[in-house]
Amino acid sequence: MTDFQSLGLSETLLKAVASEGYTSPTPVQEQSIPPLLEGRDVLGVAQTGTGKTAAFALPVLQIMGRKRPQGKRHIRALILSPTRELAAQIDERFAAYSEHMDIRHRVIFGGVKQNPQVRALQKGLDILVATPGRLLDLIGQGFVDITKVEFFVLDEADRMLDMGFIRDIEKVLKLLPNKRQNLLFSATMPKSIAKLAGSFLNNAVMVDVSPQEMTVDRIEQRIMFLRKADKRRLLVQLIKDERVKCGIVFTRTKHGANRLVKQLDQSNIAAAAIHGNKSQGARTRALAGFKDGSIPILVATDIASRGIDVDGITHVFNYDLPNEPESYVHRIGRTARAGRSGIAYAFCDDSESGYLVGIQQLIGKEIPVESSHPFHFIGAIPKPGQKPGKIKEKSGTKKRPRHQNSNRGRQNNNRSSGGEQSGRPRGGNRSRNNRGNQNSRGNQNNRSNRD
Ligand code: AMP
Repeated sequence: MTDFQSLGLSETLLKAVASEGYTSPTPVQEQSIPPLLEGRDVLGVAQTGTGKTAAFALPVLQIMGRKRPQGKRHIRALILSPTRELAAQIDERFAAYSEHMDIRHRVIFGGVKQNPQVRALQKGLDILVATPGRLLDLIGQGFVDITKVEFFVLDEADRMLDMGFIRDIEKVLKLLPNKRQNLLFSATMPKSIAKLAGSFLNNAVMVDVSPQEMTVDRIEQRIMFLRKADKRRLLVQLIKDERVKCGIVFTRTKHGANRLVKQLDQSNIAAAAIHGNKSQGARTRALAGFKDGSIPILVATDIASRGIDVDGITHVFNYDLPNEPESYVHRIGRTARAGRSGIAYAFCDDSESGYLVGIQQLIGKEIPVESSHPFHFIGAIPKPGQKPGKIKEKSGTKKRPRHQNSNRGRQNNNRSSGGEQSGRPRGGNRSRNNRGNQNSRGNQNNRSNRD
């Protein structure tokens, strides 16, 4: 097995890595660190949870540590991140890895007062982690100079484009000096990202640890078919039966997340919601409570959850199936982080079976069916040959007796296939329970979370 020494890391960084408790590099670290130390550009297909922050932070720190430029500190490394949470986490990682170095770093993002950020910038920084909106704002006001940047990292590039940041990225790129080392990380590699990568990476080394090949394997997955009206009861039952102490529940809408938190509260389950309509303070508090264990359940929308880096999440509940299949992979990747294992439950009602078909096509396998719960509903199972993303007509949803299926033990049910369609599934039509609140990429939800 490769160790950190053989990747060419300095003693100082090896010490930092050891004090973080890392024993061996993850695949994205193994493949990215050597070319980055040689000064190459890197294009990484890796999602949050794979160890990609260390994959870029360690070599950037090492090269920066080789030589300190004369005069006042200036920004030598710029890391752009789509969300505040991810930006803050990247900055935290820089703090951990640069503990034994003379490096000043800082994160800036919107939604909070700019004055403390401006003061830090005025004192001089080596590394700046930023969301695009606040960065351009402060550049416009003359507080940030990025003309001497040696390392430019674009993190979660696919999410950046989803959130409509392409113009902002282009503006930033125009302000950077020509001579610099570039890194681009993205969980997926659609054409738009390949084009963006081609526009500023030079002869980049491609590192691909996309989820199909890794993360998903360590995560136990279960699909449960049921009526929409039964979802809450099943969730409460699972949380109680499995004594969940650190679980994340995904809903498609912000409203749905708020409502669910209230409903869980009525069942004596402490939960907090995290989504784009929450203030930065509320989001930080929710995350802090979740991290310290006082809030066992976090209810999140996809966009807010991106980059949530909390070790020890044992359960992911897809309360609503995502209409973008890629989101499913991101969601379940919140568990089984850093070598641990985890379980991801997905609830599928009769309006969501097309989403399930799309998800199964993307991950290239059928999710085992768990039918031994009191709410099992065969009407939600995809029909053979059902197309991805299509919303099945509501039928057979009249009242029916509960507990219609009480067989014990987990079982696989191959009827959930429907993988006969080829090609990449896209987001589906609007359904009755998807009242335009969340839709395909570039949606309102995304935009309202912009900085
Ligand atoms: P990231 O993908 O950068 O968000 O990292 C996910 C998590 O994995 C973070 O909590 C890191 O501290 C942790 N991590 C990163 N590299 C390693 C490693 N080599 N061994 C164990 N944990 C790691």
